[in-house]
Amino acid sequence: MEIESAECECCGLREDCTPDYISNVKADFGGRWLCGLCSESVKDEAGKAGTGEIEDAMRAHMSFCGKFNANPAIRVAEGMRHMLRSASSRRLGRSF
Ligand SMILES: [Zn+2]
Repeated sequence: MEIESAECECCGLREDCTPDYISNVKADFGGRWLCGLCSESVKDEAGKAGTGEIEDAMRAHMSFCGKFNANPAIRVAEGMRHMLRSASSRRLGRSF
């Protein structure tokens, strides 16, 4: 299956997704791609506001996310993912 790398417009997290998934998310968020966590929060906020205004909720979430853009926790999480990924590819390499 075809895989593309998408970058979250909120927190900058990169995820490898299918083009279908990427365009679905973009359709939900006015042409922007958000990672799973951010899209959940935005939908949650839009639901809580009762307006269903994704655009407003997204702007609010982006400014919230922006404050934590240098959040080391996000970097740690990303680093862990890379570590796990390279660990599993090493395992694969050995069994071949
Ligand atoms: Zn995000």
